[in-house]
Amino acid sequence: MHDETIRMVDPRKVTADLVVLFFSTPDANRGYELASAFSEKGSQIVIGGLHATFMPEETSEYADAVMTGECENVWDELLQDAQNRSLKPRYTGTYADMSKLNPYPRHLITAEQYGWEWSVLVSRGCKHNCSFCLIPGMLGKTRYRPIPDIINEISEMETDWVELHADHLTEDREYALELFKALETLKIRWVGETTIRIADDPELLEAAARSGAKYLLIGIKTPSKAALKRAGKGFVKPENLKSQISNIHTHGIIVDTTAIFGFDEHTPEIFIETAKFYHDIGVDITAPAIAIPFPGSRFYKQLEEEDRLLSDNWGEFDGAHAVYQPKNMSCEELEAGAEEFSQHFYSMSRSASRKLRQIKDFGLATTLQIT
Ligand code: SF4
Repeated sequence: MHDETIRMVDPRKVTADLVVLFFSTPDANRGYELASAFSEKGSQIVIGGLHATFMPEETSEYADAVMTGECENVWDELLQDAQNRSLKPRYTGTYADMSKLNPYPRHLITAEQYGWEWSVLVSRGCKHNCSFCLIPGMLGKTRYRPIPDIINEISEMETDWVELHADHLTEDREYALELFKALETLKIRWVGETTIRIADDPELLEAAARSGAKYLLIGIKTPSKAALKRAGKGFVKPENLKSQISNIHTHGIIVDTTAIFGFDEHTPEIFIETAKFYHDIGVDITAPAIAIPFPGSRFYKQLEEEDRLLSDNWGEFDGAHAVYQPKNMSCEELEAGAEEFSQHFYSMSRSASRKLRQIKDFGLATTLQIT
């Protein structure tokens, strides 16, 4: 098993009867490169994952078989077919039974390789339908693993830093409360992804903190109310964010959110406006990114219908390139704006005042670890 977020694979040094590649759109060029290299060596090639699910025709040009959707329910059949060298062109995955999932294979990949942070799956899917997101299309509405399975898996880990892997960790409040209660005895520190709504629920926030929550990735995206509404994130209210984030900080939890640029409501002023806004509301960690129109998303469809897509080079769908014509600025302004945002958010004076606030909220040791 190879994960190229850790180390690149050299196909010349790997021999395999069957190569199964999973990747999303920004990595599609690399995925196809590997598929071609292994195919030339005689391997059978299967491609699955987000890009294959939404671009199966294109993907099939590089693979003996394309696997769409979740892979668990077609995996045994696929392996059997590969053994007989009789792969079918398409394997259509269905939603997996969450009570039958295996833990991530620690005998093949180790926590040490991931900086001693380990990921444990909690749920798949999300009830929201944000215009730029593929989760609802790929995974549907939220499905949860049984809590005892999660607790058992964490108990066997060799690290106390855990990512509770869920697209929306606290969507089902009762489930989340039960999970947090069960986690308390394990004395772990965890990171997770949820929405800002957690800040309005003191009981849930308190339970999260007691169970070891240290860091929440929260989708705020932009201070533009109109852009949030159109993207399907109308539940994020910019006017409430300062007090909501303060509630989270009170529990010693760091807030990380990306700053997304390129919404149709954005003008060239948005970059500095967002930097000031994010600093003012108390965001601890952020990075700018241009909105990526992933094939399969409503955002991609809209741009396609409006004939505004400028690139089909998937390597440029990386959040750093303007791959579509922005509505109220040039592509150059959009690409340069991300840098402008960083300069203002991480300016000397803002960084210093943020550090002082973080020392009060989290203590010196934690603050020094926030980069
Ligand atoms: S809330 Fe998050 S996971 Fe759910 S659809 Fe929106 S961006 Fe995707």
